[in-house]
Amino acid sequence: MLTDPASTHGAAGWRDRDLAVLWHPCTQMREHPDVLPLVPVERGDGAWLVGYDGRRILDGISSWWTNLHGHAEPRIAGAIARQARTLEQVILAGFSHAPAVELAERLLAIAPRQAGRAPLAKVFYADNGSAGVEVALKMAFHWFRNRGEPARTKFVALENGYHGETLGALAVGDIPLYRRIYAPLLAEALFAPSPDAWLAAPGETAAQPAARAADALADLFDRHPGEVCAVIVEPRLQCAGGMRMHDPAYLRRVRELCDANGALLIADEIATGFGRTGTMFACEQAGIAPDLLCLSKGLTGGFLPLAAVLATQAIYDGFLDDSRERAFLHSHSYTGNPLACAAALASLDIFDSDGVLERNRGTAARMAALAAPLAAHLHVADVRQAGMVVAFELTRDGDRGTPFPAAARVGLRAYRAALERGVLLRPLGDVLYWMPPYCVDDAQLELLATVTAEAIEEATACA
Ligand SMILES: *Cc1c(COP(=O)(O)O)cnc(C)c1O
Repeated sequence: MLTDPASTHGAAGWRDRDLAVLWHPCTQMREHPDVLPLVPVERGDGAWLVGYDGRRILDGISSWWTNLHGHAEPRIAGAIARQARTLEQVILAGFSHAPAVELAERLLAIAPRQAGRAPLAKVFYADNGSAGVEVALKMAFHWFRNRGEPARTKFVALENGYHGETLGALAVGDIPLYRRIYAPLLAEALFAPSPDAWLAAPGETAAQPAARAADALADLFDRHPGEVCAVIVEPRLQCAGGMRMHDPAYLRRVRELCDANGALLIADEIATGFGRTGTMFACEQAGIAPDLLCLSKGLTGGFLPLAAVLATQAIYDGFLDDSRERAFLHSHSYTGNPLACAAALASLDIFDSDGVLERNRGTAARMAALAAPLAAHLHVADVRQAGMVVAFELTRDGDRGTPFPAAARVGLRAYRAALERGVLLRPLGDVLYWMPPYCVDDAQLELLATVTAEAIEEATACA
């Protein structure tokens, strides 16, 4: 039975119960509760998280980038409830159901397109982002096997990229904190320089690091002729890598290089998809379409885990054969779960009925205006924005060359300072960012900006 943990056992008692049984994600458990507070949440209400004591916390990071239209959004909640009374789950091998079919149709209809290129034509479901990345990697590899090109075994990934935590996804990720310890277990990948605009030298624009990274990718292809099966990228925005953004021109070069070298392009839009960077998908800003597109996180509006991998007809056709081994025999028990598909359909309906992308343009402009004054802060080296994401890079001297010592834990201090003031910010290292639910209103944005300024001040004061 669900009880109010705080009132039944007192705040301390509740914490003890949690720590007695739970192992939290992405957490050094030793830091609970002395370094890191543990925050019980009873319910969600739009952009707010509400505690058992009624305390409201603004969800500045959309609960790990999943939520789109607000917590407990009644239309999505209603769609899930209706679906649960009709069909909660059914095997998707040999069986089918309307939500899975309708969602596939609608995803294919809105997927990025590129003139002269065959559109994405088939949808394969998985049940979380990492699993979706595994699907795309295995599909790319297997497709070349089926074509009789067994030498194509290598993946190219970008430095500072992130694609999830399972072993295949970690192998194409480049965040040392998550990857280093598991390195002996990981398949070898080729890493190409990031196009990250932050890497621009003084006086350069975002175009130069993007051009250099594309040239380096061309060199990598030259050094591994006929060996690369796919390049995997997070288009426009490397999220876990510190909300680093790049010039869309880079993506056009990657698309050309993949085509010229016979390799597939996997776009991981698990975090950037569904309007996060200002367009429905980030690929649109470069006018490119990938061969494989990975979607998750916001796919269900942030209500349920689900992933979709969209593939071209050519990739799908490469698996058609009399042999079962040439088929894609990958499955997850909850593939295409009807509740998750119903939530995703309701989320897409909200994009249409509420004119979400249009409304977000106004919201993003207000975020820009509120973020601009923070650029003047002594320790803010960069303020950057891609649609509904704004990031603040903190350094010791407010320039690019002088990061805070890791031991100063500036990000952690900012996290605690913001939480005390009723805002959930969860910095990536020393990068603070705003990624609010799309329903965020002006007053909430002002709170976000005020608290961010105070958190930066407090976190950097004694570092
Ligand atoms: C979060 C994320 C993933 C992994 O998704 P999970 O559902 O957390 O496994 C993969 N790629 C990108 C770009 C992500 O941001």
